[in-house]
Amino acid sequence: MTSLYTAILGDGEESIVQAITDIFSLDLKKIYDQHISADINLYPYPLRKYLPASSIAKKKLMTLTQNKGLEDMLSTTIIFSRGCPYRCAFCTMPSITQYNPSVRFRKPELIADEIEYLKRECRIEGINLLDEIAIPLSRKKAISHLEAIGKTNITWRGQCRVDGITPEIAKLTRQSGCSALGLGVESAEQQVLDMIDKKIKIEKAKETIGLLKENNIEARLYMIMGAPGESPDIVNKMWNFIVETSPDLVHLSLFTVRPGTEVYNNSKKYGIKEV
Ligand code: SF4
Repeated sequence: MTSLYTAILGDGEESIVQAITDIFSLDLKKIYDQHISADINLYPYPLRKYLPASSIAKKKLMTLTQNKGLEDMLSTTIIFSRGCPYRCAFCTMPSITQYNPSVRFRKPELIADEIEYLKRECRIEGINLLDEIAIPLSRKKAISHLEAIGKTNITWRGQCRVDGITPEIAKLTRQSGCSALGLGVESAEQQVLDMIDKKIKIEKAKETIGLLKENNIEARLYMIMGAPGESPDIVNKMWNFIVETSPDLVHLSLFTVRPGTEVYNNSKKYGIKEV
């Protein structure tokens, strides 16, 4: 009996092969649950030639807020890692730790190979990294990761945490071709960051924004209003934080309680009366 729909849970490299095999034997299951994490370095980069040209490369993906010049760059999205080792209470990532126990990065030489392929075969000049954490948090790994990207002479943007960005890493990030980085700062109040288990300090967030600006990397902030633990004058505090740090762009979201998150599962602990 063939299912009308199928969900593939977990990494999927093995499950997708199994599902396709099952389609041919008219035995497609409803759920394929791959609990063993794939070694992402064992798999080649995806060949994009089977996609329509409009899905491979686009313009305006690299557009900056403050400076002109990257709007017409032919660009694409790409990902070099899987997972996130943190457990922020508002985020759904921790709910899939049984599939993604930590963070896994592709090897530097594979990263460089994939970028060279995109440049050569798809005329790509810019890449938007979709990794949750674009730059590995350990110094040694960050350096080899950034050097691998840098030697391809590509322009890139991405997102990362505020910790792990030291003066040395900020400089290397710029040298590797980074034009903009999104930072998950979330709140201007330390008590909120502690409550949502963000595991960052306000002072470090300010320092990292400054490091990006010093190195001519556009600093884009992700901020949340309405998070648990906010004081009554949160609006002023947020505004003062933005004025003081002067980021290039702020993405402001309203706090939402999503199924699977810690705030959803233990809403009372966060002062949420009803979900
Ligand atoms: S918000 Fe970012 S750092 Fe926190 S768990 Fe989610 S992906 Fe990881």
